[in-house]
Amino acid sequence: MKNNKIYIIDVTNRDGVQTAKLGLAKLQKTMINIFLNDMGIYGSEFGFPVTRHETNYLNANMELVKTGVLKPIILNGWVRAIKEDVKKACEMTNVENLNLSISTSEQMTNGKFLGNKTRDDILLLMTDAVDFARKKKLKIVGVNAEDASRTDMPYLIKFAKAAKDHGADRIRYCDTLGYDDPFTIYKRIKILASEVKLPIELHCHNDLGMVIACSVAGAKAAIDAGCDAYINTTVNGMGERAGNADLVSIILAIKYSSGFSGKYQLDERVKLNHAWKIGKYASYAFKVPIPINHPGIGTNAFAHESGIHADGALKDRRNYELYDFEELGRGEPELIETGRQIIAGEYSGIKGFRNVYDKLEIKFKDDKEAANILELVRYANVHTQQPLTHDELRFIAKYPEIARKIFTMTP
Ligand SMILES: [Zn+2]
Repeated sequence: MKNNKIYIIDVTNRDGVQTAKLGLAKLQKTMINIFLNDMGIYGSEFGFPVTRHETNYLNANMELVKTGVLKPIILNGWVRAIKEDVKKACEMTNVENLNLSISTSEQMTNGKFLGNKTRDDILLLMTDAVDFARKKKLKIVGVNAEDASRTDMPYLIKFAKAAKDHGADRIRYCDTLGYDDPFTIYKRIKILASEVKLPIELHCHNDLGMVIACSVAGAKAAIDAGCDAYINTTVNGMGERAGNADLVSIILAIKYSSGFSGKYQLDERVKLNHAWKIGKYASYAFKVPIPINHPGIGTNAFAHESGIHADGALKDRRNYELYDFEELGRGEPELIETGRQIIAGEYSGIKGFRNVYDKLEIKFKDDKEAANILELVRYANVHTQQPLTHDELRFIAKYPEIARKIFTMTP
């Protein structure tokens, strides 16, 4: 067993919400942070500190950090690796940790900056941004090499060393286009981690269908080189184009695959039995169904029909199952209302609203408090445009002032 570990930084609230045609309301992003924290996930890249409509959401979630509701999860913001972005992030929000991102490949340096920036300019922009972040006393500063997988190794090493010299805590290797395969990423990360000796974050995409394999192969390389590894995930693999590394699949791969199980250690705080809950919630919030063959949480993940398989699974589940459904938080009966339904929503009145909260066994101390929460529930529904879940309703009743901030948006 190696001493270094694999940690998970979920990027649903940053890369996941960048998914074309889809997105999450700020309340839904907040719930994802809460569920990730409950699940024992190390970190959440929770948004964009220089984007105005994120400000109240980010600051409200930082209040949840301060009051111990979002603890011990680490929340980090995403900005471009330029000094102005770091400056603005510090002015606009109370975010304590930042990931600074800039393209490192020749393709992107030439293709995006159109000859206006040399690769030395890129280094200078990044190191200036890191220096400024350090001066601003940010707690954790990560540096993201966008398109790292298409970047020549000598430059990538130079870039990562410069980041380290200026005080970066981590380097994020972005396989932005999903160009790596498990063998190339292993080789490249092994060299990078051995040369730079800095924790490596693996940020992989699924354009060639290899996102899980690449993420774990990269993590293995970092640990083999004596560094900690951080894998970026999203809930249900949401993300641009073909998506990012699915959270549950990554956990399963590290816990149960033959080369990892018992050999490489996942952050021991991760609670797999929250998988079902967070997967279902993200599916509801994004309005994207979980594929039936999704690892662990698809409806067919533990279904057996053919004679030999069903017989074998019934005799001993280990014949056809690597892990138990209970481990993913499955198998509990779920209540579905088939009769009358009273919903609390944007046009609700006090009677229906009280009925909904009575069922959740939440009492209000007086009519004034009830009226206040009702008003917030109305706004919440305007904001999410779908029926509020029990957890969302509980959140609003428990943290009304935080909820009010999250719903407030002034263009
Ligand atoms: Zn990405």
